[in-house]
Amino acid sequence: MAHKQLQDALAEAATHTRHGAVASYIPELAKQDPDRLGACVCLLDGTVLTAGDVDIPFTLQSISKIFTLILAICDRGTDYVFQRVGKEPTGDPFNSIVKLETIKPHKPLNPMINAGAIAVCDMIAGSSVEERLERIMNLLSRMTGMQDFRVNEEVYRSEKLTADRNRALAYFMKDSGVLTGDVEETLDLYFRHCAIEVTSREVAQLAVVLAADGKDLQTGVSIIPRDVARICKTFMVTCGMYNASGEFAIEAGIPAKSGVAGGIMATVPNRMGIGVYGPALDDKGNSIAGVRLLESLSEIWNLSIF
Ligand code: GLU
Repeated sequence: MAHKQLQDALAEAATHTRHGAVASYIPELAKQDPDRLGACVCLLDGTVLTAGDVDIPFTLQSISKIFTLILAICDRGTDYVFQRVGKEPTGDPFNSIVKLETIKPHKPLNPMINAGAIAVCDMIAGSSVEERLERIMNLLSRMTGMQDFRVNEEVYRSEKLTADRNRALAYFMKDSGVLTGDVEETLDLYFRHCAIEVTSREVAQLAVVLAADGKDLQTGVSIIPRDVARICKTFMVTCGMYNASGEFAIEAGIPAKSGVAGGIMATVPNRMGIGVYGPALDDKGNSIAGVRLLESLSEIWNLSIF
């Protein structure tokens, strides 16, 4: 019954892909097929439901911001992290530079926008970019039970070569003392972790761990401290869907984080994790069919947390 509902909702949502467009400011992302749509639902009891293109790999992009935040808080503690990055939503696009200078003291508004996530990458402990990236992949492995996460080298290089805007954000933050480490190394970590490949099946597995307050579903062992999982879910509600977060909170009411490759990681506390992939984006940068699908599922299954 639930499986059929998921498949029907996906078929309806798929009719919306033609109204969106794939991201092209990272040239390699423009090669994605805009008609793809896949969704996977992982329930807390281990049940997995799938529909559409669930095994197509895509890059995490901004969904990665949740995992770097988890590690930074675990490495440095909340006081250190939130002295350097704020907790407030922004009505601006994800890569906006404007508030970095106008807000005093200069710090990014939250860890879900690019400036905030670059600042968070600067806080990840490790003696090299490789070691720090390894720690991020290791967290993904512990959350999914999968060992073989990899960086899509083409997407990584494509972003690194065209990232003038992110470089501008990072150098401004170095100048104002938000970044303390080597700027190019921090950016390199940021680009690489944005290019980690996942499928919507894996994203659902990541999401369900957050839904279970950070616990491994099978063993009950804590992978992420409960209060850190709570902070992540709160940011997902207030800032996870770019400057459409308020609208999504009203229409779907599900903590969710979106990425420009077309992925959405949605977490329904104590119920399920949902991974969606649909690379055709709306004008705010969210998967157009993915948003539609999550809104439908929220209505059918009564998923809104509000
Ligand atoms: N790597 C992308 C960027 O920095 C991530 C943006 C996103 O997914 O929102 O532009």
